[in-house]
Amino acid sequence: MKRIYLDYAATTPTHPEVVKAMLPYFTDAFGNPSSIHFHGQEAKGAIEEARVKVANLINARDEEIVFTSGGTEADNFALKGVAFANEDKGNHIITSSIEHHAVIEPCKLLERRGFSVTYLPVDEYGLVEPDEVRRAITDKTIIISVMHANNEVGTIERIAEIGKIAKEAGIYFHTDAVQMVGHIPVDVNELGVDLLSMSAHKLYGPKGVGALYIRKGTKLVAFMHGGEQERRRRASTENLPGVVGFGKAVELAGQEMSEEEKRLTYLRDQLVKGLMERIDHTRLNGHPTMRLPSNVNVSVDYVEGESMVLNLDLEGICASTGSACSSSSLEPSHVLLAMGLSHEQAHGSLRFTLGKWTTEEEIRRALEVLPRIVAKLRAMSPLLKSHR
Ligand code: PLP
Repeated sequence: MKRIYLDYAATTPTHPEVVKAMLPYFTDAFGNPSSIHFHGQEAKGAIEEARVKVANLINARDEEIVFTSGGTEADNFALKGVAFANEDKGNHIITSSIEHHAVIEPCKLLERRGFSVTYLPVDEYGLVEPDEVRRAITDKTIIISVMHANNEVGTIERIAEIGKIAKEAGIYFHTDAVQMVGHIPVDVNELGVDLLSMSAHKLYGPKGVGALYIRKGTKLVAFMHGGEQERRRRASTENLPGVVGFGKAVELAGQEMSEEEKRLTYLRDQLVKGLMERIDHTRLNGHPTMRLPSNVNVSVDYVEGESMVLNLDLEGICASTGSACSSSSLEPSHVLLAMGLSHEQAHGSLRFTLGKWTTEEEIRRALEVLPRIVAKLRAMSPLLKSHR
């Protein structure tokens, strides 16, 4: 069966050019970047080349990029790093109620360690109101963390406005831009962020590598202690092939991003329109226009998201109910609940995320298959029977 992959927000296939760029770094160019001989220097050169590429993509300086094991580590590093280094200034953190677990869980840990965290509400589209950020600031606030684009519903937050507020108040500002970088232009200066998280496997790079942008002068505790790698901010021998792959993925993204953005927006809108026309009692989750070009998230009344995903899978279509991390749990999405959806609506959510290899034909196929699945599930739905 030919499979149709519509789960690009969970992870992207590695670009063949990225794989090609990585391969020599498993074999001939295997050196440890800390060694001072030929092989070490060759490896070091490759790491620094990748660092420049990543920095250029977000308009940062290369020394402001620290490679990590992924987006989760970048988020943990930003929050714990700033919190533990600035305890003398205060113990208050502001974040939103729709963050990825990679932000929420470190915040919970920090709460257990005596910090206090404000989880800002969002509106029905998943937007954080910048004025709410302003109102939440106290003289103890040391960091604000609001994600750039939500991984479940695709809503793009007003980061530059929040950046201005943070700057005026002299508070560090972090954004989790894992779903944005490589897809939509990101400029750390325009956004006014001090810290920004990225992950390679969301932009056709390899898994297990990412980066944290740290604005020069930001005070934070190193994430790992040991050797002197990454200017002593993150010890451990670098993931050489991974970092090289990340650099190549970023380079390709820079070249292809603007065309891809247009192409995906068109396909996304086709899919949304088709779903609304063909399946009644369906609503689009997330903002209608301020959203990622790749994201379609709908709630279909009287059916379970998991049942739709499993039935789609039987027909060769890979989709998801929300984030990959929560799709194995039966808890309804905290993002959808924060947006005001009922438990039932949240349980009936389905996410399609499109990407580089998505075609119009695949969208047509999804539009043909899903209405059939929904009709079948509704016919046996206790939810629908109890509603009638
Ligand atoms: N933040 C967001 C918004 C994400 O979507 C993800 C991945 O799903 C992460 C963080 C975690 O990134 P990684 O898988 O590289 O640890």
